[in-house]
Amino acid sequence: MQSFQQYIGGAFEDAVASFESLDPATGAAWAQMPAASPADVDRAVRAAEAAFFSPEWAGMTATQRGKLLMRLADLVAENAPRLAELETRDTGKIIRETSAQIAYVAEYYRYYAGLADKIEGAHLPIDKPDMEVWLRREPVGVVAAIVPWNSQLFLSAVKIGPALAAGCTVVLKASEEGPAPMLEFARIFDQAGFPPGVLNVITGGPEAGAALTSHASVAHVAFTGGPETARHIVRNSAENLASTSLELGGKSPFIVFDDADLESAVNAQVSGIFAATGQSCVAGSRLVIQKGIKDAFLQRLKEKAEAVVIGAPDDMATEVGPLCTLKQRDHAVRLIEASVNAGAKLVTGGTVPEGEGFYFLPTVLDCSDAPDAPCLSTEFFGPVLSVVTFGTEAEAVEIANNTAFGLASGVFTQNLTRAHRMIRGIRAGIVWVNTYRAVSPIAPFGGHGLSGHGREGGLQAALDYTKVKAVWLRTSDEPIPDPFVMR
Ligand code: NAD
Repeated sequence: MQSFQQYIGGAFEDAVASFESLDPATGAAWAQMPAASPADVDRAVRAAEAAFFSPEWAGMTATQRGKLLMRLADLVAENAPRLAELETRDTGKIIRETSAQIAYVAEYYRYYAGLADKIEGAHLPIDKPDMEVWLRREPVGVVAAIVPWNSQLFLSAVKIGPALAAGCTVVLKASEEGPAPMLEFARIFDQAGFPPGVLNVITGGPEAGAALTSHASVAHVAFTGGPETARHIVRNSAENLASTSLELGGKSPFIVFDDADLESAVNAQVSGIFAATGQSCVAGSRLVIQKGIKDAFLQRLKEKAEAVVIGAPDDMATEVGPLCTLKQRDHAVRLIEASVNAGAKLVTGGTVPEGEGFYFLPTVLDCSDAPDAPCLSTEFFGPVLSVVTFGTEAEAVEIANNTAFGLASGVFTQNLTRAHRMIRGIRAGIVWVNTYRAVSPIAPFGGHGLSGHGREGGLQAALDYTKVKAVWLRTSDEPIPDPFVMR
């Protein structure tokens, strides 16, 4: 069985405890992972803190930080096939997807490499004649980055990239459900030439997560995961008063008007709900479709869903692989049962296929006559689509916004003015018009409500890892006048 090590203060080491990671395609254990204890977490944070104040890192120019990030980007690109293989093995995400996604992760590091020396302060036109006042943008400090099991290399790049560009240091806790790609990433990071302790990579479950996010030396917690865990994180941050950015789940509407290009919309819907086996925070999991085209659309969708190639995640021909955990699959089974009991009709799927592994069939539930079915409000994080119909544009907006989440959304229409009205009306962090599931390091990503707050990607994300320091410099050589009057 393969075994992996944690990375603390620039050294690779075993943890006192370890746990077995399962291969979701077979359900069998395939590797030993180091389980970070609270003491390991403490050492990792201290290593990050020491690095933060070290002359090697604090004294480094922003341009040099950018060069190191650029080197890291090249290393990620070079090692993308190996990282993809590991992510596929440990999380079950299909190789077709991990290969493309990880190659693109390098672009995120490149983007933030370029940004490192473009984070500027400001000079203020202050209202006092004998003062110069300016703002320095300084790194916030030690960042605790916590990621879920899906797309870990991507979800950590959008934290590590801007944090290091800003001059912070990071302790990353990989998900206990499939940490292999992040522990291997640590080996690649180590070759880039950063001073020791600038990035530390550990793994473990809620105990390690709680120790990290409540640690007194952590200044910011960048979290991606579910809303329930986010509540723990926010409570933990009451201990250290760290700032938080929360990228959580979604129940994103995928709205199709009767003037849409149906072939294109069906393909985008397949990508929006069945790609990544539906384990995507931006999954377009609610199809909101105009009444007149429902039957035609569902017929095409059913054909495509039933033609999907389900297979081994490491086979390039596979389109839908297993879910990452058995817990995820059990959740889907229960939620479908409750929804059918509430009146939802199964169009296709809904069952666990025969054989080993955590597979689940691509599923479509027609909830046109079951507006209260729980599948319309609860995130599956699996390949399950719930369908509702609308008549007017106003109804489409109302249904789209009838959710506690607000992460992504899709609108399919050929009508330009309507598209603009929908963009304004939908309450979500992302609106995709006539496309779906497109991302870029240049575009911010994040949500409203239970989808969390803060944005990842883009310039603002790097600024979020800084604080401004106001500097006052008196230019007069005269003695300070009346000390009892505030200047
Ligand atoms: P999760 O919330 O169970 O776990 C996420 C991480 O939090 C893991 O590393 C876990 O170990 C850690 N954790 C658990 N308890 C903790 C605690 N008490 N304190 C600190 N850390 C703790 O999420 P998951 O099931 O692994 O992932 C699925 C969820 O992630 C879904 O809701 C999905 O929508 C969301 N997600 C969001 C985005 C986004 O960018 N918005 C992207 C991917 C996934």
